[in-house]
Amino acid sequence: MTKIAFIGLGNMGSGMCVNLAKAGFDVMAFDLNRDAVKAVAEKGVKPASALGDAVVNADVVVSMLPAGKHVHAVYFDTDGVADQAKPGTLFLDCSTISVEEAREAAAKAEAAGFIYMDAPVSGGTAAADAGTLTFMVGGAAEGYERGKPILDAMGKNVFHAGGSGNGQAAKIANNMLLAISMIGTCEAFNLAEKLGLDAQTFYDISSTASGQCWSMTSYCPAPGPVPAAPSNRDYQPGFAVAMMLKDLKLAMGAAEAAGAETPLGYHAEEIYTALSEAGHDGLDFSGVMKRIKGEI
Ligand code: NAD
Repeated sequence: MTKIAFIGLGNMGSGMCVNLAKAGFDVMAFDLNRDAVKAVAEKGVKPASALGDAVVNADVVVSMLPAGKHVHAVYFDTDGVADQAKPGTLFLDCSTISVEEAREAAAKAEAAGFIYMDAPVSGGTAAADAGTLTFMVGGAAEGYERGKPILDAMGKNVFHAGGSGNGQAAKIANNMLLAISMIGTCEAFNLAEKLGLDAQTFYDISSTASGQCWSMTSYCPAPGPVPAAPSNRDYQPGFAVAMMLKDLKLAMGAAEAAGAETPLGYHAEEIYTALSEAGHDGLDFSGVMKRIKGEI
C-alpha cells in the first residue's frame, strides 16, 4: 500500500489528509500544531510527533503549507524532508506559492534524487473536506502519473498543466481573472441599480447575455439572485480578501518577471490592497461590492 506523509494540517490540509486515509492510503501526518495532528488522528490518520517520523518510510510526501518560505524550509532545511526521505520519493506540494519558488524547489529536489510536483488547488475548505478540489499540476510526466491516484482521492478534477511551475502559473492566472471578473460584476450590478434595475432583473438579463460569468452565476456579489453566495450572509467567506490578495500579489510578481501586461490585474490588486488596509481581510472577496457602493 502506498505510504503517504502529509505535512500541513490547517484549514485545507486537515480535510485533504483525512480523505486520503478514507481512500485507503496509509497516511502519517505532521504539523507544528499538535492539536491539528490530534484532530486528524481521530479520523484514521497516523499521528507523527516529528517531521522525520512521517517522512522516513513514505513513498509520497504531500504538503499543504501557508507560503513558499514554509515549503522551502520544510523540504530543504537541514533535517527537512529531503534529508530524511527515501531516494525517489515523490513530493506533491499543494500549497499556493510563486512560480519561481516552485521551479526552484523542483530543481533542488531533482538534484537530490527526488521528483517534486507543484499541485496547487482551486476550491476552498468545503471542497477540501468534500474531496472535490481541482488540482493544477506542474512537473514531469512520470511524477504526474504517480501522483494522479493520490490527487484523485482529494479532488474531482486533476489537470497536468505542463512542466515545473505551470500548476502555479495556471492557478494565479485563473485567480487574477476571477478578481477582475468579480470587480467587473460588482460594477455592473451597482450601475444597473443606480439606473433603476433591481438585482434580480439585471441578473435574469445579464446571466443569459454576453456579460455572463462565474462571478455572476455561481457567486453573485449582489444579494438575492444566487442564494448560496456569500453576499446573502453579509459577505462572510467563502474566499477571503486576504487569500485573494495573496494570489494577486503572486500574479503581479509573475507578470513582472515574465514581462506580461496586466493593467486590470494591477488595478485589482490595488482595490484588494485598499480593502485589506481598511481592515477587511476577513471579508469574502465578493465584498468588494460594499466598497464599490461606498459602504466601506
Ligand atoms: P493554514 O494556515 O490554515 O494551514 C497551514 C498549516 O501549515 C498550519 O496548520 C501550520 O501549522 C502548518 N505549518 C506551517 N509551517 C509548518 C512546518 N514547518 N511544519 C509543519 N507544519 C507547518 O493555511 P490553509 O488555509 O490550509 O492554506 C494552505 C495553502 O493552501 C496556502 O498556500 C493557501 O494559499 C492555499 N489555499 C487555501 C485555500 C483556502 O480557502 N484556505 C484555497 C485554495 C488554496
